[in-house]
Amino acid sequence: MLERFSVVIYDKKSITVAFLKKYWDYISLICLVCLTTVLFVFGTSASAGKKVTLKSLKTLEEKAIFLRKEKLGSQCEHLKALHQNRKAVKPGDWLHEHHEDGQSFATYVKERPNGPDKVKKFIYIQLIGGFTKDQSKILDQTIEYMQLSFGLSVKKLAAFPLSKIPANARRTRRGDPRLNNDYEQLYTKFIMNKVLLPNRPKDAVALIGFTGTDLYPDPNWNFVFGIASLRQRIGLWSIYRNGNPSKGPKEFIQCLRRTIGTAIHETGHILGMQHCIAYECLMCGSNSRQESDSRELYYCPSCLQKLTWNTKVSPATRFKKLIKLCNKLKLDREEKFFTKSLELLKNKNSK
Ligand SMILES: [Zn+2]
Ligand SMILES: [Zn+2]
Repeated sequence: MLERFSVVIYDKKSITVAFLKKYWDYISLICLVCLTTVLFVFGTSASAGKKVTLKSLKTLEEKAIFLRKEKLGSQCEHLKALHQNRKAVKPGDWLHEHHEDGQSFATYVKERPNGPDKVKKFIYIQLIGGFTKDQSKILDQTIEYMQLSFGLSVKKLAAFPLSKIPANARRTRRGDPRLNNDYEQLYTKFIMNKVLLPNRPKDAVALIGFTGTDLYPDPNWNFVFGIASLRQRIGLWSIYRNGNPSKGPKEFIQCLRRTIGTAIHETGHILGMQHCIAYECLMCGSNSRQESDSRELYYCPSCLQKLTWNTKVSPATRFKKLIKLCNKLKLDREEKFFTKSLELLKNKNSK
């Protein structure tokens, strides 16, 4: 049995050797073609697997170009034509001092940001301390702007008196040459953790504290304009450094513009938006008053796409409402820009 089996094997081997000798050249050629094909297929799939991500890009400019190329929804895609790329970074700018990778729309969606749902429906405002008549007017107008901008109802809670803030959560600063007086500051950590967080209503998309008193986030810091916690859905900001709205109409508009700017920027953070690095945009970080004053009160197409996805309010609907409001509030630059944006969308739709 074993012998017969061996013979069979021997016979097969002989045939194979003879076959190889006769057709060697053809076999070599076929192998070469197969090898090339395998390498090509493998190479393609390997390079496809090496996906370009924001983190993999080295420079800020490469990251910005990558973000601007991202395909957005049709309305935001059309709006790209009206927006200015982010200007080159100068010493002292936010991006000069802070490393930022930016955030694409796709990443934003993947991160499952905070936003309205079946339970969370409102933005709440917690006033802290008192306000002058003009400051109160500015707060009411800011609330109106927020309402239309986010497509959410905004509710005011009863004011929290300054007398309830303990001495270890406030301090007095010596006269600031610009402000020409001694002034009080409140410790943000206390207000965030002891006033806002325990009082955040269940149906709150966000709870925001507004105060007319200056703020400090750390005993070593001089001051802060505002602060927000994405995870806890709370934010706090002060209008103390936004100028004196009672000085005249120009100062009133300046204070209003600054207050709305902070409100829309910080609420954007609470809705999961990171700083923008692609365009000149309200979601860009600011290192100084001069830098924040250089921003207009609107989002770039990429940030607007995030807001549209999150709040389900289309850009056109948002523009229509904001045009009327900006006209009422005498925010001329914004009224003009939203009108231009809406006209562009109408023209694209009619084509
Ligand atoms: Zn910010
Ligand atoms: Zn942006």
